[in-house]
Amino acid sequence: MKFTFLGTSAGKPTRERNLSAIAFSMQNESGWSLFDCGEATQHQIQKSDLKSGSLNNIFITHLHGDHYYGLLGLIDSFKMEGRKKELSLFAPSGLKNLLSCFMDTSYEKLGFKLNIVEYKKYQVFKFDKYNVEVLPLVHSIESFAFLIKEYDKSDKIDKDALQRDGLLPSKAYADIKKGKDVRVGQKLYIAKKYLLEPIKGRRVIVSGDNSEPEILGENLRDLDLLIHESTYTKEVYKNLPVKVLHTTAYDIGKVAKEYGVKNLIVTHISPRYSDRGEYPLRLIEEEIRENYNGNLLIAKDFMTFYLEHKR
Ligand SMILES: [Zn+2]
Ligand SMILES: [Zn+2]
Repeated sequence: MKFTFLGTSAGKPTRERNLSAIAFSMQNESGWSLFDCGEATQHQIQKSDLKSGSLNNIFITHLHGDHYYGLLGLIDSFKMEGRKKELSLFAPSGLKNLLSCFMDTSYEKLGFKLNIVEYKKYQVFKFDKYNVEVLPLVHSIESFAFLIKEYDKSDKIDKDALQRDGLLPSKAYADIKKGKDVRVGQKLYIAKKYLLEPIKGRRVIVSGDNSEPEILGENLRDLDLLIHESTYTKEVYKNLPVKVLHTTAYDIGKVAKEYGVKNLIVTHISPRYSDRGEYPLRLIEEEIRENYNGNLLIAKDFMTFYLEHKR
């Protein structure tokens, strides 16, 4: 699983950080998906090694501008490039209306099918190698996380047992690997009997803006990767004149530790944290480290993270 951070700033862009957008793909998957699409995401795509023509799906976590204002430009460019391939857009309700207000053309004139799905909480979308479940969060407007659950795979079979039972290596082995029972002559080979322990699928949460990470509950338990906002440090958040329902570095560290999250990547960093500014970036890392001692990364634009398989 490959994740490329195209935008890691909160609210407004800075010289180093663009607005929220994360590219995701799996090994041997044709095409890729995008989580959030802040303003100028298409510029970031051009500066990366991603091919915009192979983008298949866009998931929007919530309808604050810093998470979706890049959609119009991206869709317009697809039209100009003569895109033919369907594009699916999964978003909270309201986006369809918003887009049609801004687009000066009907969807049919785009030249490709824009499949807009306004999801509901706990809805599950199935893809070839994984499914994506929509989980509700706590924020100033409706906001959601996406749980990517890779399917368990049984890629190993007990060849010795099969041969003992009279089935020599053949095409039938591939069917058994897929869990299909095979009949050869009079004899039925029940796949389940020959499948070795399956490889457990990986689980990843890509979260939108959220002030209570613990609301993700047991989904966080031993999670392979959590990508979550960490907009402020504790002290800064406490002194904000208006509370804006975000998570502090301290809180995300605490929750990640409590649930045994294996890899934590924090993003959506307030523009005030910069090595050139009043608040150096290391403050965020130090605060998370007060609790969490797993693998931690503070996202940067164009950073790529590979989540390897467990086995
Ligand atoms: Zn935001
Ligand atoms: Zn927001």
